[in-house]
Amino acid sequence: MKISVIGCGYLGAVHAASMAEMGHDVVGIDVDEAKIAQLAAGTAPFFEPGLPEILRAGLASGRLRFSTDFADAASADVHFVAVGTPQVAGGDAADMRYVDAAFSSLLAHAKTGDLLVGKSTVPVGTAARLADLVASTVPGATLVWNPEFLREGFAVQDTIQPDRLVYGVPEGAAGEHAARVLDKVYASAVSEGTPVIVADYATAELVKVSANAFLATKISFINAMAEIAEVTGADVTKLADAIGHDARIGRRFLNAGVGFGGGCLPKDIRAFSARARELGKGEAIAFLDEVDKINLRRRTRVVQLASEAVGGDLAGKRIAMLGLAFKPHSDDVRDSPALDVSMKLADAGADVVATDPQAIERARMLAPHLTYESSIEETLRGADVVVLLTEWPEFVGLDPVAVGSLVAGKRVIDGRNSLDPAAWREAGWEYRGLGR
Ligand code: NAD
Repeated sequence: MKISVIGCGYLGAVHAASMAEMGHDVVGIDVDEAKIAQLAAGTAPFFEPGLPEILRAGLASGRLRFSTDFADAASADVHFVAVGTPQVAGGDAADMRYVDAAFSSLLAHAKTGDLLVGKSTVPVGTAARLADLVASTVPGATLVWNPEFLREGFAVQDTIQPDRLVYGVPEGAAGEHAARVLDKVYASAVSEGTPVIVADYATAELVKVSANAFLATKISFINAMAEIAEVTGADVTKLADAIGHDARIGRRFLNAGVGFGGGCLPKDIRAFSARARELGKGEAIAFLDEVDKINLRRRTRVVQLASEAVGGDLAGKRIAMLGLAFKPHSDDVRDSPALDVSMKLADAGADVVATDPQAIERARMLAPHLTYESSIEETLRGADVVVLLTEWPEFVGLDPVAVGSLVAGKRVIDGRNSLDPAAWREAGWEYRGLGR
């Protein structure tokens, strides 16, 4: 099939390369010339395991190309729109200007019979609004909302073998036809038994934001338990293991720590709340404001623990930060708890030295005032406190005895509860986790 993908960021670049991997003829289009030049040269503009391989294979096969010219979308029959929907400056809502601009550029080249498929995470009601625009601009073209659930770090696998597919389609024959076309686009997954949920626009849009709201709530729930554990001497990791054995609860996404971040969960729950307020139903999901607050409180707690570890005054203390990305196997530092805590510690006067296997360059763009070190050893050397905030395997696997010989003070704050407290304490460390 002939496919265009508008917006080639974390979602779109993976989607474009995966579609080519699945046998389609794909053009990826973005307004960012530098990004398109990189992609066209076979270089992934960000770190995502497996992406470089399918990118190069797609380019070599001739089935994948990249462009900054929307006219190149004209040859495609199915167009995915995967541009960003960040939080607006000074508010909670999603900034829709990129989606609106992408649709207006795309519609100038779309034709009757085309399928326009929204993948961006949008406020409920967006698809209905855009469907009117599509109907009035290109009669006979159909809008579908097909939200994306990929996880950074597993994005290629999640795109090629998704847990489920959700199609938000219009009523009637056009919707039925659209679902059949999408089944063909995703034929390799559908034939393997991937569940397909066909719904109306509003349901499809809400599936995405409610899934993220649920995941954020699960994380903040266990972090709230960590706050209680901290004042009672309980161990939240054991608590999570114990409640997680209940199949109705489940152990996944129940890891207490410094909380969630990244380019999705924080801005998605805020945009959902903003949209609910617009709809006069703010109270229905008011708990999401609490979810957000619990999440942000964990960052302050790490700063507090670091301060306590050095006797109350961070000024001039050397803090070794292990991690900058919002999670391991990603270089994404958007709303990253690790980077936020690093900046808060620096604001408090600490001498912060941070490392990350992939995210240093992106962190440097947002926080040029911090000191970065590519070597883990150099980061640790002379540290008064070690703070682990992104659970990359190379950090989790550190030997507390060897690390002990590098630092000035054996104090570790395990912001992801991913180290073995007994092993670190045995090696002479003062160990502090979150809620344990
Ligand atoms: P991103 O910022 O990495 O990428 C967005 C891309 O869109 C950029 O390359 C930008 O240059 C491009 N763009 C902006 N305006 C454009 C226009 N008018 N025409 C063409 N291209 C344009 O963002 P992302 O992380 O890929 O997220 C994209 C969307 O997907 C968001 O709505 C996000 O919530 C959603 N999403 C992201 C993920 C994820 O893990 N990153 C997962 C699921 C859903």
